[in-house]
Amino acid sequence: MSSKQAVTVIGLGPMGQAMVTAFLDKGHPVTVWNRTASRADDLVARGAVLAESVEDALRANELVVLSLTDYDAMYAVLEPAADALSGRVFVNLSSDTPDKTRAGAQWIAERGGTHISGGVTVPPSGIGDPESSTFYSGARAEFDRHKATLEALTSADFRGEDPGLAALEYQIGMAMFWTSMLGYWQAVALANANGLKASDILANAQSTVESLPGFLAFYAERIDAGNHEGDVDRLAMGLASVEHVLHTIADAGVDTALQAAVVDIFRRGVEGGHAADSFSSLVELLKRK
Ligand code: NDP
Repeated sequence: MSSKQAVTVIGLGPMGQAMVTAFLDKGHPVTVWNRTASRADDLVARGAVLAESVEDALRANELVVLSLTDYDAMYAVLEPAADALSGRVFVNLSSDTPDKTRAGAQWIAERGGTHISGGVTVPPSGIGDPESSTFYSGARAEFDRHKATLEALTSADFRGEDPGLAALEYQIGMAMFWTSMLGYWQAVALANANGLKASDILANAQSTVESLPGFLAFYAERIDAGNHEGDVDRLAMGLASVEHVLHTIADAGVDTALQAAVVDIFRRGVEGGHAADSFSSLVELLKRK
């Protein structure tokens, strides 16, 4: 009999499967349920118990980890078993918007359960690695009680009691991730159109990304102080630069949609009277819909 806390995991996509594996590897007894039961086969072979119904999965353990596509999937799974929610602590590691997360937490609370939101910042291959990290928010006392068990998955970064906070931090990270990666796909397309392979520009791409943390730290302090002075950079200079990129891309016959959007934002900043300000002044422009 294991002395480690037993856990129920609902949702066995790539992420849920990695989580069950990490719990089992660290000695936690695990009960699982998934809409498509066959996805539990390998996990059962490793020692997980497959519950016959959602209700059985919920009744098996106090701590229930949800790893579903989104919050709509949570309602689809839990609504039919609503009587079994009371007294459970749901750690919902499914991604969604902060508003949907808050509504989900309320829905669980109205049925007598406790909700802790999570935003996992790594792919399934990073689960089980203490160097990986997950944002959590919601019921602090329940989180503290289960923190050690959750650390079987990744390290835990509790952001506060508002259930939307973990989702917000996660979406902030993803907003940067997707646009940064799209910038990289655009750079590779430009390279390919000029006969260069992705591996040819790898060192250039990596050093460009490695320069970013210094910029972020420099601007964060100034932005928080309301300082957009054009003492080290000017938006007008930035507009000229992003236009050079646009023309280089257009000359190569590469899709200009992304870079045209970048130029449009810089131009709106300049036309809004910020030509002599820092390009961090675009933050103020972007705050308005
Ligand atoms: P998937 O979308 O592959 O897995 C989704 C799981 O949700 C499956 O078990 C699926 O069941 C179930 N599901 C979806 N809709 C329903 C429904 N209507 N009713 C019942 N079950 C449903 O996601 P992942 O495993 O990749 O990820 C899980 C969560 O983790 C997502 O929110 C994702 O955004 C987040 N995440 C994922 C990362 C990744 O790299 N994969 C990284 C960080 C976060 P079935 O097997 O029957 O289809």
